[in-house]
Amino acid sequence: MKLVNFLQNKFHSMKAAIFMALLLIGIIPGVIIGGIFFRMYESRALDTDTVSMTNQTQLLSDQILSTGYLKNNEVDEINTQLKALGNIYSGRIIIIDDSLRVVRDTYDLSEGKTFVWENVILSLRGQRTSVYDRVSHCLIITVPIQKNDSSNSIEGVILLTKSTDNMEQSIAFYRDLLLYLSLVAIVVAFVLAIILSERYTKPLGKLSDDIRNSQALHDEVSVDDFSETEDISRNFNEVMQKMRDIDESRQEFVSNVSHELKTPLTSMKVLADSLNAMEDEATIDMYQDFMHDITQEIDRETKIINDLLSLVRMDKSGATLNISSVNINDMLEALLKRLGPIAEKQNVELVLESFRPVTAEIDEVKLSLGIMNLIENGIKYNNPGGYVHVTLNADHQYFYISVEDNGMGIPQDSIEHIFDRFYRVDKSHSREIGGTGLGLAITKNAIEMHKGQIKVHSEVGEGTTFDVRVPLNYIKEQS
Ligand code: ADP
Repeated sequence: MKLVNFLQNKFHSMKAAIFMALLLIGIIPGVIIGGIFFRMYESRALDTDTVSMTNQTQLLSDQILSTGYLKNNEVDEINTQLKALGNIYSGRIIIIDDSLRVVRDTYDLSEGKTFVWENVILSLRGQRTSVYDRVSHCLIITVPIQKNDSSNSIEGVILLTKSTDNMEQSIAFYRDLLLYLSLVAIVVAFVLAIILSERYTKPLGKLSDDIRNSQALHDEVSVDDFSETEDISRNFNEVMQKMRDIDESRQEFVSNVSHELKTPLTSMKVLADSLNAMEDEATIDMYQDFMHDITQEIDRETKIINDLLSLVRMDKSGATLNISSVNINDMLEALLKRLGPIAEKQNVELVLESFRPVTAEIDEVKLSLGIMNLIENGIKYNNPGGYVHVTLNADHQYFYISVEDNGMGIPQDSIEHIFDRFYRVDKSHSREIGGTGLGLAITKNAIEMHKGQIKVHSEVGEGTTFDVRVPLNYIKEQS
């Protein structure tokens, strides 16, 4: 079991895969080429022998006919030739007449006997045959002895065998040679496969080590041996950069939160300490005064905590949205009703202008909190006698809410920051009027959770307009 796991692990590795691939590429062609070579060598050698033997027997056949050898085999000229041929081919020659009787056998084994063999019979019918007998290591050809006159009659058959020992010895020699060369090639392929697989996978190992060892966020990896490892290094560094940014903004957020939460506490402590220090001198009026201030600080702390909680809820994914079909006109009317008293107190006119009835799929609690922050800001950062105009419109795809005021406006260089958490254009003024710097961050998150957009136009001293666009139908998040 352990061995199986070990092998599985080994062959799962890229190094092993490259090693095997290189080894096979090195060996397989050699084996295939070797196999093809021997087949071709053998068949070519046999073909050449067959042709030369056939030619020889053709000449012999003519002489046999002209000397009447088939009737009387005491023709010296032919017998000498047969002997010579037998020596050349290290083989046997048998002359058979048309009644299958052996007229001459150079091995003197079957003279006068009847010779029945399929190929001899085929040759008596006019065919030339050749057979390679691997068992007795010889090539056997049969050729008809055919008259060259108009009758073309077949008088007999010449059977000629040739020992293939020479050819087989050469093949054996080359086979051994190939075997040795293959062994050398296998060793070379093996060594090369080890070297190359190591070379090709080393950068990946290095990359993996570098990534594992990069414990600090600022560590970068750079393995530029191959373009692929260069790509991975670059992508990894980019991800690390994103994480650095996230970490930075998280740290900034935590330090902002601590600072914001500490400020009211510090004020409360100062107030309480000074009351304590007064001892008997403090009158009941003074106590009430101080307690009023302390209560205000507590309210402020509560508001910051509530805003933070809203922000955290908005930071979660769209999956936490509680979508339903909402009448936006009613939603805005309710908001204006709630904020009416504050606007009145500030002497700011609050107007809702609706161009058409709008119903949309939204999370009413979250989106109305976002819009409420915009209207509240319009009132807060306004001057007595100013106005806040809220308009609602829609087309077939989106609904549009704009919140326009003629208040103090926002300086151009602050506009890009106003959606940042805890950002306030004028810290002390904002604090005075109860701002936490979280309102617009909450608004932006709420709108973006609905796949909407928010834009701002502002002129210092003239006023500010926030334009919001939200899809009528909720667009589900792609999972
Ligand atoms: P705050 O709680 O301080 O109002 P916000 O995130 O709502 O925080 O707003 C961020 C800052 O943007 C505010 O402190 C204020 O300086 C500026 N601001 C927002 N809305 C307006 C507006 N309608 N007119 C002028 N300034 C605004």
